[in-house]
Amino acid sequence: SLSDRLGSVFDRLRGRGALSEQDVRDAMREVRVALLEADVALPVARRFIDAVTEKAIGQDVLRSVTPGQQVVKIVNDELVDMLGGVETPSLNLEARPPVVIMMVGLQGSGKTTTTAKLGKLLKEKHGKKALMASLDVNRPAAQEQLAILGTQVEVATLPIVQGQQPVDIARRAMESAKLQNVDVLLLDTAGRLHVDEALMAEMKAVAGVSAPTEVLLVVDSLTGQDAVNVAQSFSGEVPLTGVILTRMDGDARGGAALSMRHVTGKPIKFAGTGEKLDAIEVFDPKRVAGRILGMGDVVSLVEKAAETIKHEDAEALAKRMAKGQFDLNDLRTQLQQMQSMGGIGMLAGMLPGMKKAKQAMQASGMDDKVLVHMDAIIGSMTPKERANPALMNAKRKKRVAAGSGTEVQEVNKVLKMHQEMSRAMKQIKKMGGLKGLGALFG
Ligand code: GDP
Ligand code: MG
Repeated sequence: SLSDRLGSVFDRLRGRGALSEQDVRDAMREVRVALLEADVALPVARRFIDAVTEKAIGQDVLRSVTPGQQVVKIVNDELVDMLGGVETPSLNLEARPPVVIMMVGLQGSGKTTTTAKLGKLLKEKHGKKALMASLDVNRPAAQEQLAILGTQVEVATLPIVQGQQPVDIARRAMESAKLQNVDVLLLDTAGRLHVDEALMAEMKAVAGVSAPTEVLLVVDSLTGQDAVNVAQSFSGEVPLTGVILTRMDGDARGGAALSMRHVTGKPIKFAGTGEKLDAIEVFDPKRVAGRILGMGDVVSLVEKAAETIKHEDAEALAKRMAKGQFDLNDLRTQLQQMQSMGGIGMLAGMLPGMKKAKQAMQASGMDDKVLVHMDAIIGSMTPKERANPALMNAKRKKRVAAGSGTEVQEVNKVLKMHQEMSRAMKQIKKMGGLKGLGALFG
C-alpha cells in the first residue's frame, strides 16, 4: 500500500545521519512510483514531487542534524496542503432555511448511506431539524431504503409518492420543508453506473428547482483513478461545493483523496469510515496525511478515545502506552473504548501496532460480542492479577472462568491477546512513542 511504500522510503531516510541531494532525488523517485501506484493522478504526483524536492534539497535541510526527519516533515506538510490545507472544511448552513444539501454521485458510491449519516450529524451535532428526500426513481426500493435509514437515525423523510419524477419530488420536498420549518433539506439523488448526459440533465434540473447551498459529490475512495474521473465529469457539469469520500475505512484511501482537491478545486468535507450510520468524520487533511505516511494515527486514536472515555483516563493510557507499559487494566480500558468506538474494525489503521492486534483478534475468532465476555473475565480478576498477568496460573484461571461465566480457554484468549497488544505497544515505543511522533508532526 501507499503507506507501506512511503513508510519504508522514509524509514531509510530517517535512519541516516547525513543526506545528499542525490539521496533526496532517489527517494523522491520512489515516492513518485508509490503515488502513481496508489492511483494518484499523474499531474498531481508530478507537482507534489517538484514541490517537495525543491524544499527538501534546500541547504538548511541537508546540513541539519536530522535531514531525514525534516524531509519527512516536508512531505507531510505537502500532503496536508494537497489534501486541503490546515483549515477544517465545514458545511455552509448559514443560508435562509431550508438550506438545501444536494448529494450527487454514481450508483453505489454511498449517497444514500451518507445522506442518512449527515441527517444524523446535523440533528445531533448541530441541533438542526432535517428532512431527507430520495429522488432516486431508477433503482427499485431506493426511496424505501432512505425511509428505513431515516427511521434508524430518527430523521424525517419525505413521504413516498409513486410515479413522481425527480424534479417533482424535489419541488414537493421544498414545499414540505418550508411548511414544517425544516432547517436543512437533504436531497439524495439517483446515480447511474456511469456518468451520462441524462444523469447530468437530471442533476441540473433538480438543482434548478431547489437552489442548493451545498452540492456534495459522493465518491468511493476505493475506486482510485475512476473516482478521479467521476469527479472530473461531475465538476464540469454541476456546481459542486465539496466532496465526500466514502469507504475510507478500506485499504486504498490515499490516492483518490490526494487527487480530489486538484481535480475539483473543492474541499473534501467528510470521510465515510464504515457502514454504520455514525461512521462519518469531518475530513481532516492533517490526520489523513499522517495515515498516508504510515506513521500511524496516534492523534486520531487519542482524540477518539477522549471523546468516549474520561479525559484523564485517555491521558493516563497514552502515557503508559508511550512507556510501553500495558497491563490487563489497560486492556480492559481499551476493550471498553473499542466497544464505544464501534468495535474491532475501527481500530485497524489507527496505530501501526493495532493492525497486528486486530489480525490476531480475528484469527482467534474474535468478534464484538466477545469484547463483552472479555470485559467480564478481566472484571473477575483481582487487582493484583490485572496488574501482573503472569500470576495467572491454572487455579486462578479456573476461578476467573467460573466467576465470569466463561471457560478457561476464553480466559487464555484474553491473556494471549494482552500479550499481543503489549507487543504492539512496545513497537510504538520503539518508534519513539507518542511524544516522538507528536514532535515530528505536531
Ligand atoms: P448509493 O447507491 O450511492 O446510494 O450507495 P448506498 O448508500 O446505497 O451504499 C452502497 C453500499 O456502500 C452500502 O452497502 C453501504 O453500506 C456501503 N457504504 C457506504 N458508505 C460506506 C463507507 O464509508 N464505508 C463502508 N465500508 N461502506 C460504505
Ligand atoms: Mg442510493
